[in-house]
Amino acid sequence: MKTNASPEHLKALKELPDTDTMPFMFVGHGSPMNAITDNEFSRNWAAMGQRVPRPNAVLCVSAHWLTPGSTQVTAMDMPRTIHDFGGFPRKLFEVQYPAPGAPDYARKTIELIRKAEVVADYEWGLDHGTWSVLVKMFPDAGVPVYQLSIDYAREPRYHYELARELSALRNKGVLVVGSGNVVHNLMALKMDGTRYDWAVEFDETMKALIDGGDDRGVVDFLGMGTVARLAHPTHDHFLPLIYALGLRTDRDRVEHFNDDIVAGSISMRSIIARPE
Ligand code: ZN
Repeated sequence: MKTNASPEHLKALKELPDTDTMPFMFVGHGSPMNAITDNEFSRNWAAMGQRVPRPNAVLCVSAHWLTPGSTQVTAMDMPRTIHDFGGFPRKLFEVQYPAPGAPDYARKTIELIRKAEVVADYEWGLDHGTWSVLVKMFPDAGVPVYQLSIDYAREPRYHYELARELSALRNKGVLVVGSGNVVHNLMALKMDGTRYDWAVEFDETMKALIDGGDDRGVVDFLGMGTVARLAHPTHDHFLPLIYALGLRTDRDRVEHFNDDIVAGSISMRSIIARPE
């Protein structure tokens, strides 16, 4: 399959067992309350967990782990569940997601990446961008999970190029999940059941670019000007989509799910891609 990794770097993975090419996903996570809510979104997360081959490990790129100036990979044996939010019910703070880490896969991933000097992390854990989705997708917490941080000092194209190098992990049983939102403006939330025109425009433009195989158009989203700035006053929640698209090949068929906009300005649009 297409990959940016050189044969020398692919050697980093040779000790990991080969598998059929895994799908990859981008998941719109929205409110952390989805972790403890039975709704159409969380039901589809659960359904996706049933549809994919059981992964050897999940690598999550979450909008909630930003490390400006570096790129890090969690490498601990037992990542903690991080409740990185405030103002939610106690019940949400009581959720634990005790999946083991994936230190072997983490070390190999660090070796695989040439684009950045990747640092092994032993402090972070699983933030809610990761566990709020996985608690529904793999409720037994039996699949090892590790995270890749986002160097938020870098431009979107850098992240796409880094993600291209991760594609080889798909043949090692790793399910890569980007977790963010295609539209994410928390300042504009409204509860009257309507959606902003700019939210719909940005969301539908991204769908068309994804379906047209136009990754460059997605990566260059800031070219949409005002609409892009309204959809993403900061673009931390958009970058995980760019990571996901970096993994795709010409053989992948993309399917959308949870394609809805909630609270006026949060797109829950998600994709799963798999080889045809
Ligand atoms: Zn979020």
